[in-house]
Amino acid sequence: MKFVVKAWSNGKARAGVLQLGSCPHPIETPALLLTTRKGLPVFIPPDHFPSLPSPDSLLFHVSPLHFLEGISLKAISNIGGLHPLLGLRDHILVAVPRDSIISIPDHDSTNRIGASFETPSGRMLIKPAEYMEMISSMRPNLWTTLADEVPAWASEKRNKASVERTLRWLDECIISNSKDGAVFGSIVGGSRVEVRQSCAQEVSRRNVEGFWIGGFGLGESMEERNPLLSAVMDSLPEEKPRLISGLGLPEEVLQGVAAGIDLFDSTYIYHLTLGGFALTFPLERIVTQITKYQPNSDSGSDGTKINLKATMYRKDTSPIVDNCKCYTCQNHTKAYINHLFNVHEMLAHILLEIHNTHHYLGFFCSIREAIQEGKFEQFRQKFVGSRREHLFSAALSI
Ligand SMILES: [Zn+2]
Repeated sequence: MKFVVKAWSNGKARAGVLQLGSCPHPIETPALLLTTRKGLPVFIPPDHFPSLPSPDSLLFHVSPLHFLEGISLKAISNIGGLHPLLGLRDHILVAVPRDSIISIPDHDSTNRIGASFETPSGRMLIKPAEYMEMISSMRPNLWTTLADEVPAWASEKRNKASVERTLRWLDECIISNSKDGAVFGSIVGGSRVEVRQSCAQEVSRRNVEGFWIGGFGLGESMEERNPLLSAVMDSLPEEKPRLISGLGLPEEVLQGVAAGIDLFDSTYIYHLTLGGFALTFPLERIVTQITKYQPNSDSGSDGTKINLKATMYRKDTSPIVDNCKCYTCQNHTKAYINHLFNVHEMLAHILLEIHNTHHYLGFFCSIREAIQEGKFEQFRQKFVGSRREHLFSAALSI
């Protein structure tokens, strides 16, 4: 694996290029990992993959735990790993055990995330040796070590135990690594700055090619997150890439980029699509051009997205976004997608996820351009300020 930082902006935001040995396509960072279930995106059929922006859409997050049941590891290994199994020769498969779709803890479940996972056969604890057997059979391009994540409200004792366990698992994973893909060491530490810092320092001393930052998006506020992210980032070497799970909203992505994150594993698009939402914020030249919000209580809009289930789109013969190059906007109208939702056709989700994926990958492209131009902070302030203005206008219109 090769990773080179090409440009910096406003201190810590950085744009780089990631090249994985077995993949012919270099990936520009900051980049988004597309969410999958059982190895493939939830709603987008494989024959539509070529219509997505390439190579940006080639990064897939895969949870090895999605293959715990059904097909055996031996069968996956005999087929040649996940790439031939899924029919994805050129894609970059990033194995992260965390399943952000279901790993949303409640206050009674402090101990119910980490390396213990729900399966149709009940709760299963995965140990490093078993996990490494999965990695060895699946042969992803990049994988993260096992982590015992805790939510923000975990006790100090539980938090320290999670760090000790994660570091122990990290060493066990490294020892049994059979050189299948690049290894990213997992960093945890909950909501304690000093614990986060010491965990990051420990992981950075290990023989890893990059870092996975866990334990975010688990109950902490955006304000609490800043010092925690800084404590981690300041402890890591600049030349190695950083991947984070749990930051998905546009503002959260911008917060992560500002802190120096390179890769994002996010279920934001999946959840948007599930709710019938389509991303509509302007992508081109966000730095200088902000579209004014037109308040409408029926639109379900917050200035960045619209709800296509809303009755106001029943007769709307325009595409989701004018000039959008995605398959959905090139071929279909808001009225048709609204109709598909009304008659409970799954094609509604398929068309919507194609657009949302296209649009959010475009957002990451705009972020990279802003960094390369040295204007990331202006970009971020304009975007966040515009969204705030829209929310304020919407509140006044109710
Ligand atoms: Zn579109």
